[in-house]
Amino acid sequence: KLFNEVQELKGNIRVYCRLRPFLPGQKEKQSIVEHIGENDLVVANPAKQGKEALRTFKFNKVFGPTSTQAGVYADIQAFIRSVLDGFNVCIFAYGQTGSGKTYTMSGPNNASIEDLGVNYRALNDLFSISTNRKSSIVYEIGVQVIEIYNEQVRDLLTHVMFLNDDFLDLHTLGILNNAQPNGLAVPDATMQPVKTTEDVIKLMDIGLKNRAKGSTAMNERSSRSHSVVSIHVRGTDKKSGSSLHGNLHLVDLAGSERIDRSEVTGDRLKEAQHINKSLSALGDVIFSLSQKSSHVPYRNSKLTQLLQTSLGGQAKTLMLVQINSDVKSFSESLSTLKFAERVS
Ligand code: ADP
Ligand code: MG
Repeated sequence: KLFNEVQELKGNIRVYCRLRPFLPGQKEKQSIVEHIGENDLVVANPAKQGKEALRTFKFNKVFGPTSTQAGVYADIQAFIRSVLDGFNVCIFAYGQTGSGKTYTMSGPNNASIEDLGVNYRALNDLFSISTNRKSSIVYEIGVQVIEIYNEQVRDLLTHVMFLNDDFLDLHTLGILNNAQPNGLAVPDATMQPVKTTEDVIKLMDIGLKNRAKGSTAMNERSSRSHSVVSIHVRGTDKKSGSSLHGNLHLVDLAGSERIDRSEVTGDRLKEAQHINKSLSALGDVIFSLSQKSSHVPYRNSKLTQLLQTSLGGQAKTLMLVQINSDVKSFSESLSTLKFAERVS
C-alpha cells in the first residue's frame, strides 16, 4: 500500500511551501501574502499597486502560518515510509535565515513533543513501523549527522564543535566518488544505530545540545552551514536472505539570503560565496532532474556530491520552501519563490 502511495506521487520532485507565522514579539505585522490556496500562493509587491503588484506561485502543497508540525508531517509521511521499501529520499528546507527551516526540520528550542519537527517524526515513524510490520523483513536503522560548512564536511555526532567559536577539530571528512547506490557517501562519519524509541530521543538530544552549545555563535553559524541528517535503512528478508537499502536525507540548508558584497569582507564573504555556490549547484541539479536532462551537474558542490546517489533516478526529492511573509523580507521571499518555481 505504501509503495502504491509513493507510486502515485507524480514525478520525483515535489515542492511544498510553508509560511512562518508572525512571532509574538514582532511589532510590525504587515504581510506580503494576498492569498493562500491548497496549491498556490499569491504575494503582493509592496512597491507596486493593484494587479501589477500581484504574483502567483504554484506548489504541490501550501502550509499557512497556522499549520502544525503534525499537519506538515502528515503530508511528508509517504516519502518517509517509502524508504522502508528501498527508496532513497531527500528532503530539503530552503529559505532565508529566520524563515523557519530549523523549526520545520528540528522544532523550536526546548520543543514539547507536539512541536518536534520532521527529523524526529521521521526517525520515530521509521522505527515504529519497521518494528511493527508483520513481515519476515528485519530492519536495521543507522543515523549520521553531518555539517557542510565552507565546502568542508564534518561529523556532528562525535566532534565537540566549539571552543571560543573555533573548531577543536578541523578534521574534515571525504566524500566517496561514484559511491554504489547502496554504499555510504561519507563512510567515516559516525553511524549511530537506532533500536528503540529511547535511542531516537537520545540522538535528538545530542542534536539539541549541539545546537544549544555556544548559543549565539551557534545560531549564527548554523544559518551559514548545511546540516544533513542521513538515515540509513537496511532490511533483510529472513526467509530469502535478500536485502534492501533505503536512505533518507533530511537537510536544513544554509540561509539563502544574498549578502551585500559591499558590506562584508574576509570570512563572512567567503562563507557567503560558498553558500551561494552550493545553493545554486543544488538548484541546478534539481532543475536538470526536473528537465530530465541527460547531464546532471552533481560535481559542482559538496552537498550535491554527498547526495548524488539519492538525487535522481528512482529517488524522491521534496523541497520545503520556507517564507517569512513580513513585508521587509519581500525581496528575499521573492527570490526564494523564484528558486522554487525553477525547480518545480
Ligand atoms: P531558520 O532556521 O530558517 O533560520 P528558524 O526555524 O530558526 O528559522 O525560525 C526563526 C524563528 O521563528 C524561531 O524563533 C522559530 O521558533 C520561529 N518559528 C519558525 N517557524 C515557526 C512556526 N511555524 N511556528 C511558530 N514559530 C516558528
Ligand atoms: Mg536555522
